[in-house]
Amino acid sequence: MSYGPLKVRIYGDPCLVAKSKPVKEVGPVERMLIAAMFETMAACKGVGLAAPQVGINEQIFVVDTGKVVMAVVNPKIVKSAGSELMEEGCLSIPRVLVDVKRAKAVWVEYTDVENRRVKAQLNGLLARVFQHEYDHLQGKLILDYLNPKDRTKVLSQWKNGSYTGKVLGENDDYRTKI
Ligand SMILES: [Zn+2]
Repeated sequence: MSYGPLKVRIYGDPCLVAKSKPVKEVGPVERMLIAAMFETMAACKGVGLAAPQVGINEQIFVVDTGKVVMAVVNPKIVKSAGSELMEEGCLSIPRVLVDVKRAKAVWVEYTDVENRRVKAQLNGLLARVFQHEYDHLQGKLILDYLNPKDRTKVLSQWKNGSYTGKVLGENDDYRTKI
């Protein structure tokens, strides 16, 4: 079997707000999915992509910051430190940017493509992307960091095409598309 080109799901798709299931074991099928996710992420010029964003509610995501490439399965955030506000976009909510407060450093555990459990401390952009993708696996989106009033406003404008808040343009830094 092959996954072929994956379609990035856009806000409104139920997969994006569902909780993803842990993966029992990383085998050939999971590795094939991971490879297809890397291709899809590169085609979208994204820096991260979670399985629910391609319609699969399993605890898998991929990251490519330009410096670090990671495939992450069954992640846990064990500890976090610091906090930093930064604008984030999401491939599943095109053009919308939200200021999201996240930990500056995270201590994480995850399973890699070889089915080994890995422990790591992540900082900077990598820590941010990891937290964003981890949220996707819980069914949480950047919109959920807005207060209810702004959330409703941004969403209704985004849906009817009149969104005039922060927008991510075609030529903006791809690294904010996660
Ligand atoms: Zn996202």
